[in-house]
Formats: sequence, C-alpha cells, structure tokens
Amino acid sequence: MTIDWELTGKIIWCVGIVAWGVIRFRPNIKSRQTSIAVTERPLKERFSMFVSQLGLGIIPGIWVFSGFPSQLDHQTYPITIMIGALVFFGSLLLFRKTHKALGKMWSHSLDLREDHKLVTHGIYKRVRHPMYSAFWLWAIAQPFLLSSWLAGFAGIAGFGTLYFLRVGQEEIMMQNQFGAEYEDYCNQTKRIIPYIY
Ligand code: SAH
Repeated sequence: MTIDWELTGKIIWCVGIVAWGVIRFRPNIKSRQTSIAVTERPLKERFSMFVSQLGLGIIPGIWVFSGFPSQLDHQTYPITIMIGALVFFGSLLLFRKTHKALGKMWSHSLDLREDHKLVTHGIYKRVRHPMYSAFWLWAIAQPFLLSSWLAGFAGIAGFGTLYFLRVGQEEIMMQNQFGAEYEDYCNQTKRIIPYIY
C-alpha cells in the first residue's frame, strides 16, 4: 500500500484546526461571562485579525478542499509531513496550556475585562505571549503540512502581520493598566521564546 502523503498532510492540518476549535470552545463561552471594560480595536487591529484568519484558515482551507490555485503546488516529502505534524501537535499542547492559565482574562482582541488580573503563573511564567508562540508554531507547521507554496506560507505572512502590528500595542495597554507590576513581569520574561526573544 502506498501512502498519499499530500492527502495525509491535508488531513493532519484539518484535524489540527478542529482540535484548535475544541480547545478554544469552552474558554470562549466562559470568558464572555465577564464583560469587557476597556477595548482597543483600531482599524489596524481589525485589519490584522482579518489577514491572520486569511493566512491561517481561509487560504489554506480553500487549497485543501478545492486544490486552488494548483499552479503553486510543490512536491511532498514524508519527512516534512512528519515534522509538520509534530510541530502542530506541540502548538496544540501549548495552546491548551495558555487557555488554562489565562482563564477568563482571555479575549481574541485587545481587551481588558472587568476586574482584569495580570496572569503570571503557569506557562505565563516562561514567556509573556505564549498564545502567540502557539500561533507561530501553527504557522510554522503549515508549510510543512501543505504542499502548496501559497497555502503553506500564507500562515506565516498572515499571523506575522497580526503579531508585529499587535504585540507592541498589547504591551502598552497592559503597561497602562498594571504599571510597575507589568514592568517587573516584562523584566522577568521574554516575549515568545524563553531566554531568547
Ligand atoms: N498575548 C497573550 C494573550 C493573547 S489573548 C499571549 O500570547 O499569551 C489577548 C488578551 O489577553 C489581551 O487583550 C489582554 O487583555 C490579555 N492578556 C495578555 N497578557 C495577559 C496577562 N499576562 N495577564 C492577563 N491578561 C493578559
């Protein structure tokens, strides 16, 4: 029996997306029970959220289900599919840990909830943006799993746009809210890669 590795990569990507949705389902419902006190969603934030969804979901989803645009397809190697599966799995584990630690303080945009507390425990002890680390791992897994230059690299371009447009603004928002407490936390942690960046 010969394995269709291109199809295997597509299936793993789909399973990863579904697992991502399952992990987020309950935190999404729970966090909505606490209302939002401060929100910062300028046009830049809305634009970058759209671009990120385009790169991590819409463009690869179209390619996976329709094969469009086939002109940018490339050869598939079993080893890249295996690496992609491993990286996506790591991303899901990390994503689960971030929701566990952040609890109802989570929101999908730049918001502060009523009685917002600064989370510094669990995975937030290691880096201050572990959820973005998890999204980076997903974006990195995508070109390994999908045998299309466009669908594969759209994730890095899309999430990269969101990350670089948002992270500085998020830190300013947290700094304004928590002052010295956040400054201390920043001095003790890196952004997304422990000890490095
Ligand atoms: N940047 C974080 C969280 C992403 S979710 C990460 O990558 O893990 C975005 C929301 O989380 C922001 O609107 C902010 O209100 C909240 N947030 C970010 N860091 C936080 C922290 N350390 N404690 C509590 N809330 C935080």
